[in-house]
Amino acid sequence: MKTTDIMARLQAKYPGEKEYLQAVQEVLESVEEVYNQHPEFEQAKIVERMVEPDRIFTFRVTWVDDRGEVQTNTGYRVQFNSAIGPYKGGLRFHRAVTPSMLKFLGFEQTFKNALTTLPMGGAKGGSDFDPKGKSNEEIMRFCQAFMMELWQCIGPDQDIPAGDVGVGGREIGYLYGMYKKLARQYNTGVLTGKGGTWGGSILRPEATGFGALYFTQNLLHKAGKDIKGMKVAVSGFGNVAWGACIKATELGAKVVAISGPDGVCHIPDGITREMIDYMLVMRASNRDKVEDMATKFPGKAVFTPGKKSWSVPVDIALPCAFQNELSEDDAKELKANGCFCCCEVSNMGCQPGAIHFFQHNGILFAPGKAVNAGGVATSGLEMTQNAEHISWSGAEVDEKLHFIMDSIHEQCVKYGTQPDGSIDYVKGANIAGFMKVATAMLEQGTI
Ligand code: GLU
Repeated sequence: MKTTDIMARLQAKYPGEKEYLQAVQEVLESVEEVYNQHPEFEQAKIVERMVEPDRIFTFRVTWVDDRGEVQTNTGYRVQFNSAIGPYKGGLRFHRAVTPSMLKFLGFEQTFKNALTTLPMGGAKGGSDFDPKGKSNEEIMRFCQAFMMELWQCIGPDQDIPAGDVGVGGREIGYLYGMYKKLARQYNTGVLTGKGGTWGGSILRPEATGFGALYFTQNLLHKAGKDIKGMKVAVSGFGNVAWGACIKATELGAKVVAISGPDGVCHIPDGITREMIDYMLVMRASNRDKVEDMATKFPGKAVFTPGKKSWSVPVDIALPCAFQNELSEDDAKELKANGCFCCCEVSNMGCQPGAIHFFQHNGILFAPGKAVNAGGVATSGLEMTQNAEHISWSGAEVDEKLHFIMDSIHEQCVKYGTQPDGSIDYVKGANIAGFMKVATAMLEQGTI
């Protein structure tokens, strides 16, 4: 396999699918050498099959807004790969959602899920619906209309959606309510990220952020450092940023920046529990403004419009918001301000130029598919609890999550250790995930 040849073919076939092509390129570059040591992969055309989703459902979603006006959006479910288990992955509601974005996310999810050690295939879905400024009733009507189409594509042993950007516990509730009514199936395992009283796992809301910090801790320990006392910049103020802030603070780090599309909030003394709790209020308001934190906590949080978290001097950067949110220029600014580690918590949060800069300037870097896998891993644990009709304690879930993150870190070290002893976490995560999926595909024949 030659990455350049495959990429040229994909570029011609899917022109303009920027995010999808970026994600495929990164994985293929990482695995090319290992792949070419396995002629059986080449013979079975594993890569050519793996880069194409199994299928994509596209549907119209029509709903009525609070003014009585009819609105139309597009909904999607990309079932990417089922080699190691039923399709699994979140739903993203965001105005910028396109098939390219969901294909990139579904592709990444396939390898991420393989890293979790749990039997889950990869999928992603969502809509170009923009939750910003929408009332609770509008959100409910949209979720119901979305599920009217989606329900036929999913099932607890077939395809299990969850949340992602713009989809949290509230949306999962509305989606499940409609699923139940349409499918007349009452197995809560069809969705994850549910409420605690109806099949949701304790700690699922916190899991992505908690897992990311467990991974970061492992990475720092391996490099002979400790997170205690470190200054941390987080981007976003959604569910993932929230969990990351809780765990970072708990581990003795100081979160000094959070951000939104409107700018950055600098919190020189470190974020407090009260401020972390307020992040939930900010998200539920659908205003999408981080400035609200500075308004609520004057003097403690200082808002600067138009700036990112990467402009604040820190030791560790944790992108927790959106793909490509950290550019090469941001990476350079972080380094100039003394940052020595970036753990990507968002999916593909760093632009290729930023990753290249980190890797060639002695900054520790780990990719989203390894760092943020605790979210989907805990979804996998939620599925297990649902299938067994039981509920584990928070301590039990946390212990399993911690164990999974340790094992993901070990896999990265195993496949990513370079001849000079350094660890290429991008390579490590990609090769570990790829080998598992490729082997399963090979064993299941030409389908
Ligand atoms: N959206 C999350 C992710 O990117 C979670 C998916 C899930 O729990 O299925 O991994």
